Amino acid sequence: MELSRKIEILTESAKYDVSCSSSGVTNNTRKGTVGSTSTAGICHSFTSDGRCVSLLKLLFTNACIFDCHYCINRKSNSIPRATFTPQEVADLTMDFYMRNYIEGLFLSSAIIKNVDYTSELLIKTLKILRHEKGFKGYIHVKAIPGADEKLIEELGFLADRMSVNVELPSRESLKILAPDKDPFALYKPMKQITHMKNEMSQVPALRNPAPFVPAGQSTQMIIGASPENDHAIVKIAENLYKKYELKRVYYSAYIPVNQDSLLPAITTDPPLLREHRLYQADWLMRFYRFSADEILSEDKPNFNLYLDPKANWAVQNYDQFPIDVQTASYEQLLRIPGIGPKSALNILKARNYYQLHLSDLKKLGVVIKRAQYFVSCNGAIQPGLIHDPEWVITSLISSRQYETLKKVNSQSKQEQLSLFDVERFESVKRKESRYAH
Ligand code: SF4
Repeated sequence: MELSRKIEILTESAKYDVSCSSSGVTNNTRKGTVGSTSTAGICHSFTSDGRCVSLLKLLFTNACIFDCHYCINRKSNSIPRATFTPQEVADLTMDFYMRNYIEGLFLSSAIIKNVDYTSELLIKTLKILRHEKGFKGYIHVKAIPGADEKLIEELGFLADRMSVNVELPSRESLKILAPDKDPFALYKPMKQITHMKNEMSQVPALRNPAPFVPAGQSTQMIIGASPENDHAIVKIAENLYKKYELKRVYYSAYIPVNQDSLLPAITTDPPLLREHRLYQADWLMRFYRFSADEILSEDKPNFNLYLDPKANWAVQNYDQFPIDVQTASYEQLLRIPGIGPKSALNILKARNYYQLHLSDLKKLGVVIKRAQYFVSCNGAIQPGLIHDPEWVITSLISSRQYETLKKVNSQSKQEQLSLFDVERFESVKRKESRYAH
């Protein structure tokens, strides 16, 4: 099979994998001309020092021996199959690199023959790149759960980042939808990578740059293929961040690709808004010191699709507001919608020098249109503010935004999840008009 055909088949098969920050760019140059990236996926990732890098995203093979229900590459699907050789992947990476299209490689693979054999092929590819071609660029590679520990170790010394995909948010769902995978083997490579990184960080000579997975590890969860609620998903993510010190958890709205009685119908739209809310909640856990149980609870286990998780938390806990920016701690400032880590620090610095006024907040980086409902400044609140969470909700959601979201919701046939239903919104709007008179 010609290399161009392999690229076509394997980039198509790789496009549902989101363990990087974006994917699937194309440009208008003709195929075969210099500058054409029409058949290759370029995605982005972040290096250990936080730089964003463009990566050539390749699937080594789609000839999988497993039969995961949700996957386009499952063995029971009748699709064109292809497998690169290690040399081909190494040559392609160098070609793209020399043309300045990419700064690194994101290499994933289906399971060919068995997990060890697949891992050996990935190692061989990375060895050609690192040792024969002298490639020092960024490499993100998938670790295959169940592979021998020695192979995981070898891969880790060749790659910058490794990802071990959780795929589905519970063992029960994995058993049903990925029957060939061992749910207990899934976390072993994560544990091994964390352990080895921690061991090496004890040795000063191995700290900087770390020789083993210097950019850390990440994972991906598919959202909406299985019945777990949002609370269960954020709890798992929180646990992964704490236990295995993951750099990122990626959430991928399930795109139905197979007709399968165990999965949402093929005509179902991917739950993109839910995916977006998960990324916002993830951000709150990583940078705003929120715990999963503060964002959602067993009583309210799903996101409010009309409010972002931070605003939703604030209106649910409105008795804690307004928070006075002149005296609040850094942690309290981070709880205020419209205030982020940078503006919180700006407030702390500024108030060392002068008494703050509400009018100062904008120049300190605060998003006033969100924060105005939640702050006071030396006891003063925004003129016209009504201390009523329902009034705040209606003020935060414009009628236009509400109608758009309602439409998106009904088109995607998503269930209205929490706090805010049509009757409630309308009753609150009625209440709002009473306030206006
Ligand atoms: S192991 Fe499962 S998810 Fe991975 S490529 Fe094979 S069928 Fe798809």
